[in-house]
Amino acid sequence: MINPFKLLGISDDVVNAVKDLGFENPTPIQEQAIPVLLEGNNDFVGLAQTGTGKTAAFGLPLIELIDFSVKKPQALILCPTRELCLQIASDIKNYSKNTPGASVVAVYGGANIMQQLREIRNGVQVVVATPGRMLDIIGRKAIDFSSVKYVVLDEADEMLNMGFQEDINDILSTTPDDKKTWLFSATMPPEVRRIAKNYMDNPTELTMGTKNTGNVNIEHEYYVVRARDKYAALKRIVDFNPEIFAVVFCKTKLDTQDVAENLIKDGYNADALHGDLSQQQRDKVMQRFRDRNMQLLIATDVAARGIDVNNVTHVVNYSLPDEIESYTHRSGRTGRAGKTGISICIINSKEIGKIRQIERIIGKSFTKAELPTGFDVCEKQLFSLVHKVHNVEVNEGQIDQYIPRIMDEFAELSKEDIIKRFASLEFNRFLEYYKNAPDLNAAATDERGERGERGARNERNSDYTRLFINLGSVDEFTRGDLLSFVCNNGKISGKNIGKIDLKGVYSFFEVENAHVDTLFNNFKDIQFNNRGVRIEKSGDAPEGGERRGGGERRGGFGGGERKSYGGGERKSYSGGGERRSSGGSGRREGGASSGGGGFRDFSGKPREGGNAGGSGRREGSGSGDRRRRS
Ligand code: AMP
Repeated sequence: MINPFKLLGISDDVVNAVKDLGFENPTPIQEQAIPVLLEGNNDFVGLAQTGTGKTAAFGLPLIELIDFSVKKPQALILCPTRELCLQIASDIKNYSKNTPGASVVAVYGGANIMQQLREIRNGVQVVVATPGRMLDIIGRKAIDFSSVKYVVLDEADEMLNMGFQEDINDILSTTPDDKKTWLFSATMPPEVRRIAKNYMDNPTELTMGTKNTGNVNIEHEYYVVRARDKYAALKRIVDFNPEIFAVVFCKTKLDTQDVAENLIKDGYNADALHGDLSQQQRDKVMQRFRDRNMQLLIATDVAARGIDVNNVTHVVNYSLPDEIESYTHRSGRTGRAGKTGISICIINSKEIGKIRQIERIIGKSFTKAELPTGFDVCEKQLFSLVHKVHNVEVNEGQIDQYIPRIMDEFAELSKEDIIKRFASLEFNRFLEYYKNAPDLNAAATDERGERGERGARNERNSDYTRLFINLGSVDEFTRGDLLSFVCNNGKISGKNIGKIDLKGVYSFFEVENAHVDTLFNNFKDIQFNNRGVRIEKSGDAPEGGERRGGGERRGGFGGGERKSYGGGERKSYSGGGERRSSGGSGRREGGASSGGGGFRDFSGKPREGGNAGGSGRREGSGSGDRRRRS
């Protein structure tokens, strides 16, 4: 049988390369676009979602059309983010691996420009670039675009969203007039239409799928909760889906960091991806996610652009995007390459109108879903454990030597007893955690006061005492940091802490009444940055008052260079060297949550090597290409 890519006009070298990638049949977009683009004499506009096989749809024809015996740039691919740039460059290298002389360079901000310049000097035919760095290189007169025959504008809508319009104009003005321009976009707002009109001559237009339609493989759901229950709702969704592998979208970098830190603190295998991380940190986070050593990637829209990770089971919109069009990009992170996926929105009742708007744009309706009860979660987790036990691979060689002793220990117990005890070992912890969990569904909740998750109970709960502490965000504390600090020094468990209200130079937090004395006793001599830490009952400290705690701050709030609690440069509170996320290896002490989900330690205790220290070591972005929201 003739290979279907060959039937579309692709040469043997390239067919063999894509075969090695496991591509057996062209995706619908490839089927439609490849024959058109192979003609090589038309401008082209493709309205296509991410995850549809778009890169090969333009990448394969490009390889066929380029003369690889000439070592000059002949194709320029512009895309909005570094991640996408690397992805496209890597894909095209893979497609052209059997093509003699083929050379592809990725040009993006935040990386060593000298290396990129060297590669360009050595001679490349395909340049994949983000606009900012591309302009920089053009400005240095380090590239000659006079032989460019094809320009691809990938994810054009997002490039415009990111404010790259002028950069694109400038870059295109350095390319020959008779080049062909291929534009791909998930949506077609008027600005993209304008680009098509300004830069293209009677382009062939293809709409892959219905115009602006959400990916057919994706189900869309929304949960209505009170604003303050959002985080608890997220946790419950995750707990109810033990095998979840998800991207969680937040609107701002701050939210992204906060949600990630809280999740890590609560024992989840999560990390943040946003523009304030250095490129190196972003790479590390992405690598962990790709390798499935992390279950929950908490990201801003911009940082998550172009993430091509297969088998993402859920996209969670922790906050709805400002621009409704972005919803399509977000949900396109799941349901890729023919897989199914679920896109979830956690909203408050005022946002239902926005859901209706999204429905109109994607042409699909949402299902209103109910958050599971604590009991539902326990049941789900229990059976997940049972299935895991059933399917676990037994290392006979290693375990055999212990079997006689184990049999001995269990000699008195029936099979049923053993099963019960074994299941209870983990199940009890879930039951304990969820025993008083409130109903989080907004319509059903009103003001129930049970304590379930932190922040998911009444503002004023008489079981708790609200305390003032003379530390706050100016000391570079996040809520997670403060929790660790109070627990470590006060020698109480995170479970005994209620709401944390982080302010500037001071903060408030709640402690269960029974633990207040312990906390006061243990905090008698605690210092931070050479000044006494003071904790008082909040009635004694004027709330909202501009209170400078301690009165002993030296040299302003920070007192010069920030030191760790134990002295030395600030690292993680648990003393564990450079920032690492507790989910790093997919393993956790006490909880044994694997990358594939499972039970966690709900003590809320900071874990060894955990990132309770938050962003103490963050560097600036370094990316020359970010220039807008996120
Ligand atoms: P893209 O839309 O280009 O980001 O592609 C989404 C995913 O689909 C990537 O992981 C590709 O490797 C994969 N893919 C692209 N084309 C095919 C194909 N014809 N068969 C199987 N997988 C594909």
